[in-house]
Amino acid sequence: MTVRIAVVGGGIGGLACALRLNQSDLDVTVFERRPRIEGRGTALGMWPDALRALDAIGLGERVRRTGVAQQEMRFRRSDGRTLARLDVGRLERRTGELPVLISRAALITLLRDALPPERVRTGRPVEPADVEELRAEYDVVIGADGIGSAVRTARFGAGHQPRYSGYSAWIGMVPSEGETSQEIFGRGRKFGVTPAEGGMTNWYAPIRVPQGGLAADPMVQLRELFGDWCDPVPSLIERSAGTEILNYPIRYLAPGLPSLVSGNAVLIGDAAHLMTADLGQGACQALVDGVALGGHLAGGGELVRALHQFDRDRRRPAQRVATAARWLGEFTSRPGLSTVRDLTFRAAGLFGPQDPRPSRGAKTVSASASDGGLRTK
Ligand SMILES: Cc1cc2nc3c(=O)[nH]c(=O)nc-3n(C[C@H](O)[C@H](O)[C@H](O)COP(=O)(O)OP(=O)(O)OC[C@H]3O[C@@H](n4cnc5c(N)ncnc54)[C@H](O)[C@@H]3O)c2cc1C
Repeated sequence: MTVRIAVVGGGIGGLACALRLNQSDLDVTVFERRPRIEGRGTALGMWPDALRALDAIGLGERVRRTGVAQQEMRFRRSDGRTLARLDVGRLERRTGELPVLISRAALITLLRDALPPERVRTGRPVEPADVEELRAEYDVVIGADGIGSAVRTARFGAGHQPRYSGYSAWIGMVPSEGETSQEIFGRGRKFGVTPAEGGMTNWYAPIRVPQGGLAADPMVQLRELFGDWCDPVPSLIERSAGTEILNYPIRYLAPGLPSLVSGNAVLIGDAAHLMTADLGQGACQALVDGVALGGHLAGGGELVRALHQFDRDRRRPAQRVATAARWLGEFTSRPGLSTVRDLTFRAAGLFGPQDPRPSRGAKTVSASASDGGLRTK
């Protein structure tokens, strides 16, 4: 008998899972609410676990070739002083590779194009009320439908809804080559910069505001809050005038779900363990989930047992990452913790080797491999 699997949501996790299932010739159908499968927005950091998941579905090399290897990550204050430097080379020595930064649009395109088009039905929103019908029609229903998951609402109840973190982000992308990955901290706000492919630079600016409290005009608010910060912040903001600037309220799922499985339905990615963006791990976890679940279901055993095995493998690790991201977000964004935050970052760096070069903006920095982890200068 052919096993039929419905994946609700053609995002990062859903497409990765469908690819893994398709590799094993399972009958998988992706239902995506949007008329086309395409990505917008920020550059995503693909950490080694996520790259290995991409390897398993045959896309690792293409992602490495398309994206930009992340050489280092620097943490600075708004006056330009460096607080610490994350020694990414240490990760490379441990895992054999550097994280790769790739735009969401490029990642989604690679995933989409690898899946036979007949596996995908676009313009097909699944409502919570549709989920029981899908569960009857398909052997397994995978909720990969992100933040506002209809499958989560239908199977786990309206009580498990995302909470607002207390901060919202402006996000943009501008042509600008060679910027260093960095996060720059102020009181109750920060500005993050990451390179992406094609000579582009991605920036994000989380600001502590009540939900819905971002200004109507992003350029006015960005100039007011970041206009006097160190380079490259003002120049990235000015180059963003007239480009698309996205507004993103940061949310998370808490408490964590007690199980990702309900009957023959299962959740992956943001639907399962939505996390704040502070560790840049949500898409990585969605990829690892998707490929792991696909592997369990392709194993040929009893399906519900495979779902529970997936839950045992993935729920707690992903929920731990979500908790760490939330903790880091609170620590770095609460205005009352700014001094402690800066001291902690500096102290963490003191355990590593010092970088004697002056801090004169992102482009002056290059990584020299050492065993220091977080470094200050
Ligand atoms: C500012 C910011 C920066 C980030 N940076 C990083 C980073 O550097 N690295 C990283 O790993 N992660 C990062 N993330 C997190 C990452 O973007 C998400 O965790 C990831 O997209 C989750 O993937 P997913 O497949 O679970 O959900 P999504 O990618 O959201 O996909 C869900 C899909 O389901 C569809 N859908 C929704 N509802 C329905 C429905 N009812 N019926 C049918 N289809 C539906 C949607 O249209 C969408 O296509 C960042 C997030 C933000 C906000």
